[in-house]
Amino acid sequence: EFGLIAELVHAHARARPRHPALIDECSRVDFGELDQRMDRVATSLQRDLVDVGDAIAICAAASVNYGVVFLGALRAGVAVAPLSPSSTAESLATMLADCRAKFLFLDEHVAKTMATVALPSGLQLVRLDHSPGVRSLEAWLAPAGSVPVPVTIEPDAAFNIIYSSGTTGTPKGIVQPHSMRWAHVRRARNFGYDNEAVTLCSTPLYSNTTLVSFFPAIAGGGTVVLMPKFEAGKFLELSQRYRVTHAMLVPVQYQRLMDREDFDRCDLSSYRMKFCTSAPFSAALKADILRRWPGGLIEYYGMTEGGGTCMLLAHQFPDKLHTVGQPVTGHDIRLIDEQGRPVPVGSIGEVVGRSAAMMKGYFNQPDKTAEAEWYDAEGKRFIRTGDVGRFDADGFLTLMDRRKDMIISGGFNIYPSDLEAVLFQHPAVRDGAVVGVPSREWGETPIAFVVLRPGATASADDIKQWTNSRLGKTQRLSAVELTTELPRNSIGKVLKRELRDRYAQASS
Ligand code: ATP
Ligand code: MG
Repeated sequence: EFGLIAELVHAHARARPRHPALIDECSRVDFGELDQRMDRVATSLQRDLVDVGDAIAICAAASVNYGVVFLGALRAGVAVAPLSPSSTAESLATMLADCRAKFLFLDEHVAKTMATVALPSGLQLVRLDHSPGVRSLEAWLAPAGSVPVPVTIEPDAAFNIIYSSGTTGTPKGIVQPHSMRWAHVRRARNFGYDNEAVTLCSTPLYSNTTLVSFFPAIAGGGTVVLMPKFEAGKFLELSQRYRVTHAMLVPVQYQRLMDREDFDRCDLSSYRMKFCTSAPFSAALKADILRRWPGGLIEYYGMTEGGGTCMLLAHQFPDKLHTVGQPVTGHDIRLIDEQGRPVPVGSIGEVVGRSAAMMKGYFNQPDKTAEAEWYDAEGKRFIRTGDVGRFDADGFLTLMDRRKDMIISGGFNIYPSDLEAVLFQHPAVRDGAVVGVPSREWGETPIAFVVLRPGATASADDIKQWTNSRLGKTQRLSAVELTTELPRNSIGKVLKRELRDRYAQASS
């Protein structure tokens, strides 16, 4: 079964035109108006000769207009490249040229960033907010009542081009087909995204993390509340004001919420389901959420490319909180060794995954695409995740680390996640990360960056000794460095390569 999200919006608009669809800080649209505005976006794109299969880019904080343009472009069969507003001007210019965007929809903040670089020639700008300068969305939109020329959209046509987080290197443009988004929408039907659902999106819309809940919520005819920037107090306020039923958060956001003194006084009884994805999510934090926050908790493990999708229904499996769950139906997840051979059950290997919801490839990067593919003995295509993990006897996957973050020290493989698990048990440790650094003696050796809890007085040496006394001989930390904050990207992933650079600079 295949369908189009833009058509579902149309059906909801006919059935419940006055039901709120998108809400942000200063505006809202109901389904009737959303449907009409999508028509006007699609007509405007057609008028400006943006064809089926062409791309447009959106680079802005989340807003009602953002949603309107994204959904309207889909109706015209135009692929959307949602770009991160926190990217540098150079990186934005590279991404815009890479996806050959004909339009860039932006806000004031991004307009300022872009002012310092040359834009690809022919790129047209439209402003999503009310600030002056660039042409506004209202000025660009075709008149009310416009009807776009109907287009045919095949399941494997590009829905969006998402640039990967760049956690491990330069961002890669990942082409996600309509069939992949549709698979997310279908999967999410089991989680109550119906027309009474209210979904709070507090992560940025350029990230697949957000889109895997944004589209199911809209496709289900429910209301989406958009937060341009996460702030824990605001999140709790909006949750209560709108009686939110669904939210997708990343682990640092959960941590900030659970750390708040007023958390237990908030009325979160409207919640039906919460989701988490994108970075390691500790078992202790999951347990705390299950204890203190009503409704279910689901962790997804996956990647924008679509490899390796597992899911943990945390509320159903309290003894599996250290895992990322089991493969989602329709996903074939396997583990392979360095030579690309399948590993026996119980052994550690790189996760590779295959499903109907996979990227077609990296945009303009056939070599990178080939590197990301793995074929089994029957010639079936899988996507390599670069993540290392192990299945337990019940088929639950425990993730260790990204392959690039693994440490080989004196011939032994060291998994930073094992060391971090011990480190986090230290009562003074609030946050931390272990990375490998060059060592003359061992090739590489693990060191830890640690953020202390407010008021804690432990020294770097105390923490090192405490941790090392609980680790195997070959795993011991060579150094602990105290720091005030770990470098994270805009959706909260720790940037381990920045930590390695920081160390290299300090020691050179
Ligand atoms: P890049 O590929 O540019 O380095 P990225 O891999 O961070 O960036 P994404 O596609 O956003 O880009 O993230 C996918 C990765 O996030 C996975 O490969 C995995 O390392 C990590 N991840 C996702 N979900 C989880 C999870 N539940 N637990 C731990 N890690 C996760
Ligand atoms: Mg990746």
